[in-house]
Amino acid sequence: MEFSSKLLENAVYEMSQLPGIGKRTALRLVLHLLKQPKEQTSRLADALVGLKNKVKFCKSCHNISDTELCEICSNPRRDESIVCVVEDIRDVMAIENTSQFKGLYHVLGGKISPMEGVGPQDLTIKPLVDKAKEGKIKELVFALSSTMEGDTTNFYIYKQLEDLDIKTSTIARGIAVGDELEYADEVTLGRSILNRIPFENSLKA
Ligand SMILES: [Zn+2]
Repeated sequence: MEFSSKLLENAVYEMSQLPGIGKRTALRLVLHLLKQPKEQTSRLADALVGLKNKVKFCKSCHNISDTELCEICSNPRRDESIVCVVEDIRDVMAIENTSQFKGLYHVLGGKISPMEGVGPQDLTIKPLVDKAKEGKIKELVFALSSTMEGDTTNFYIYKQLEDLDIKTSTIARGIAVGDELEYADEVTLGRSILNRIPFENSLKA
């Protein structure tokens, strides 16, 4: 792509670094922003910079939060003995929407993926294991997408907890293999949390 302006080229380049945004889409978005009133573009820029500079991650579950301890972790009505292990905030939002889960979450920040160079040390697995060793957790519910990466991650965590007296379960899937949690409908997802199965059983299947 040949640009008549270095400024335009820069903006298009940065925009195209976003996932799913090719050069053409980036150009369309940048031209759109250029047509907007200056205040509008400033608000967008401020929101992004503010997010990056000020966002916090809950010190317990690692979910995105405005406070040190997120609303879910600091809610006394939640059951701290059961922890649902998810990949990111989208899964927390999807499961919260079902209103079927009253425990806490642990946000891993991704899945183990040798192909993408993501190892256990890149995720919040160690804090999870440390938390498990404190003895408050009675059950861990794996709710990662049932992809090879999800299964690998579940199994890795399961192995780390082997010596601890913690029940591990996995959400029952009415969901096809490879479907991401966030796309599952609320009823199906809610049911799959209620009908979770012992993790060991999922290994035999
Ligand atoms: Zn939290």
